[in-house]
Amino acid sequence: MTAQLIDGNALSRQLRADVAQRVQALRNRGLTPGLAVILVGDNPASQVYVRNKVKACEDTGMHSVLETWPATLSEAELLARVQAMNNDPTIHGILVQLPLPAHIDAQKVIEAISPAKDVDGFHVASAGALMTGLPGFWPCTPHGCMKMLEHIGYELRGKHAVVIGRSNIVGKPMALMLLQANATVTVCHSGTKDLAAFTRQADVVVAAVGKRNVLTADMVKPGAVVIDVGMNRNEAGKLCGDVDFDGVKDVAGWITPVPGGVGPMTITMLMVNTLDSAERQAGVQAG
Ligand code: NAP
Repeated sequence: MTAQLIDGNALSRQLRADVAQRVQALRNRGLTPGLAVILVGDNPASQVYVRNKVKACEDTGMHSVLETWPATLSEAELLARVQAMNNDPTIHGILVQLPLPAHIDAQKVIEAISPAKDVDGFHVASAGALMTGLPGFWPCTPHGCMKMLEHIGYELRGKHAVVIGRSNIVGKPMALMLLQANATVTVCHSGTKDLAAFTRQADVVVAAVGKRNVLTADMVKPGAVVIDVGMNRNEAGKLCGDVDFDGVKDVAGWITPVPGGVGPMTITMLMVNTLDSAERQAGVQAG
C-alpha cells in the first residue's frame, strides 16, 4: 500500500486565503487584527521562526509588531513589555518566542500574557479551557494536526489514537483534542514499555518526540493515519521527522511529510488564533 500524502503546504495556502478574506472583512469595519512577537536573544532558529510569523501576518493583511531584545534583557523588563502589549488595543495576539534565556522564568512570562491574547495557547487558562472543553485558544501545532485530520474527512469517533510524546505544547493538548473528537486515546512517552505494541493497534498515530525513526513500518497498522510532528536533522543535515517516512508510507493509509506537513500548519493556526481573537473583540462570530 502507498499512503496518501497530507500536504501541509497546500492546506495552509487554502486556510491562509480564508484568513486573508476574513481579515479584509474586519478591516472594512475599521479593525485590523494585530500580532505582537517578542524575541529575546539571538537563537538562529528562533529568528527564522519569528520572521516567518511576521511574514505570514503581512501575507494575510494583519498588522504585526516584532520586538527583538538582547539576551541580557531582564525578566522584569520582559514582563513590562508583555504588559504594554496587553494594554495595546491594536494587538490581539501576543507571542513570546521560546526558548527564553536561562535567567528568565518562561512560565512566569507566559502567565503574564492576557488569556484574551494568548494566541500560542500556552497560558494555564488556555490549557484549562481545552481540558474542560470551554472556548479558548488551542496550541497551534496540535490544532494544525486536527485541521489535517478534518481536511481528509477522517471520522475520529470510535477510533484509537496513539500520541507519542506528552509535552505541554504538543503531546498533551493533542491527546485532549483527539479525546474531545471522541477518539480513544493512548499517550506514550519515554517511560512506555513496548511502544510498538500500542502503535500497532492505532488507527491514528501522532509522533511528537524529537527523535528520528521513532516510528518504523513494522510499528504501524496497515491503513493507519500517521502524523509526524517531529523536526530533526539527518546525518546530511536535512530536515526530517520522527517517522521513517520511506518505510511507513508503504504501510500507512495517510501520512504527513517533513518538511511540508505539520510545520506550515503551525504558523497558519497562529494566524487563525490571532484573527479569532480580533473577531471576538469585534463581536464577530469566529469562523
Ligand atoms: P519535548 O518537550 O522534548 O517532548 C518530547 C516527548 O517525547 C516527551 O514527552 C518524551 O517523554 C517523549 N519521548 C522521548 N523519547 C521517547 C521515546 N523513545 N519513546 C516515546 N516517547 C519519547 O518535545 P516537543 O516540544 O513536544 O516537540 C516534539 C517534536 O516536535 C520536536 O522534534 C519538535 O522540534 C517538534 N515540534 C514541531 C513543531 C512544528 O511546528 N512542526 C512544533 C513544536 C514541536 P518524557 O515526557 O517521558 O520525557
